[in-house]
Amino acid sequence: MKTSGVEFRGLRRVFGRTVALDGLDLTVEPGELVALLGPSGCGKTTALRCVAGFEHPDAGSVLIDGKDITRLPANRRDAGMVFQSYSLFPNLNARDNVAFGLRVRKAPAARRHARAAELLELVGLPEHGGRYPHELSGGQQQRVALARALALEPRVLLLDEPLSALDAKVRVTLREEIRRLQLDLGITTIFVTHDQEEALSVADRVAVLRAGRLEQVGPPAEVYDRPATPFVAEFVGTMNHIPGRLSGDTVAVLGQTLPVDGPVPDGPGVNVLVRPEAVLVTPGPAPGSGAIPPAPGSGAPEHAGRGLVVASSFRGSSARLRIRLDGPPDEAELLADVPGHDAVRLAPGTPVTVALVHRPVLVAPATRVPAGAEDPAGVG
Ligand code: ATP
Repeated sequence: MKTSGVEFRGLRRVFGRTVALDGLDLTVEPGELVALLGPSGCGKTTALRCVAGFEHPDAGSVLIDGKDITRLPANRRDAGMVFQSYSLFPNLNARDNVAFGLRVRKAPAARRHARAAELLELVGLPEHGGRYPHELSGGQQQRVALARALALEPRVLLLDEPLSALDAKVRVTLREEIRRLQLDLGITTIFVTHDQEEALSVADRVAVLRAGRLEQVGPPAEVYDRPATPFVAEFVGTMNHIPGRLSGDTVAVLGQTLPVDGPVPDGPGVNVLVRPEAVLVTPGPAPGSGAIPPAPGSGAPEHAGRGLVVASSFRGSSARLRIRLDGPPDEAELLADVPGHDAVRLAPGTPVTVALVHRPVLVAPATRVPAGAEDPAGVG
């Protein structure tokens, strides 16, 4: 299969007063799978539709293989698309759905059938060619939609939230299969999703969009471990905001001193951004005089590493704890992921000691409520 790079150059699209794309710049390399990730309304689908030719930008351009295709009609773009909702033709069986594009191109029947059989085999449905969409499960319908998108050997595969209508288990299986298929075919793929776990698990690179612009693009581990902005830190994964005190290029937090990574806001009072898995929790001692008094002129006190488990959500191999930190401010809470087998000895009501994994941390201005208070992970 031939494969091509895709380039968004200063793409802008406005609907009335809504700026859907606000100068999007992004390059997808040949053979790469890039996930477009971002909150609802950030312009992901509009960007994808601009590649497919279903949407036309007000400014900027889209290039495939270095060639400007911005003005090219959709049927001459060589892009295959899979939509969120099942978009199969209900009156055609799976085989004819897959072969539809070939029929439009007047390919001979024998070739259409052979190609449909080959593609149904590829997506794991070799026996299902005679079934109509209503005789297929949601996951099977999306496999057929994928086979249909691949039938004309597109140079680019566009997936618009292809898994969001499926239940959790099928979603995970199918995303793994899409990734395997994409790697086997080496086809350049843009995968739109608002599900960060999905994006991190399938993509070569994740492009985080915010309000129609690119906020950060990078390999999943980089976007997760080294978010370029507080928005990315917040949107990708769960982040605690723990009160701390800046001093030069280090920050005092929970009785520890950690090096600061990235931009340093005005201090000394700041919030230290820490993932739940970077919080180490041990039972005891009893909470007491936990807060360290503020240094002169420094603002909020720093919390000592003591607190109380107030909620716990068991997830099998791990448990997510909500811990109320001892001492003022009263609302200071954090989320911690601990091994599942520790969930019993760290049940709600248990006084605990908390420490942070010793590594450089991002810090943000101390204006925001703690991440735990927003309950992004659904604990408590
Ligand atoms: P979601 O995850 O909810 O699908 P998205 O990131 O894909 O969101 P888009 O569908 O690209 O976002 O929409 C971006 C913005 O443009 C939204 O505010 C949306 O309401 C608006 N928009 C998109 N298409 C149109 C349209 N045809 N007419 C008017 N507004 C539109």
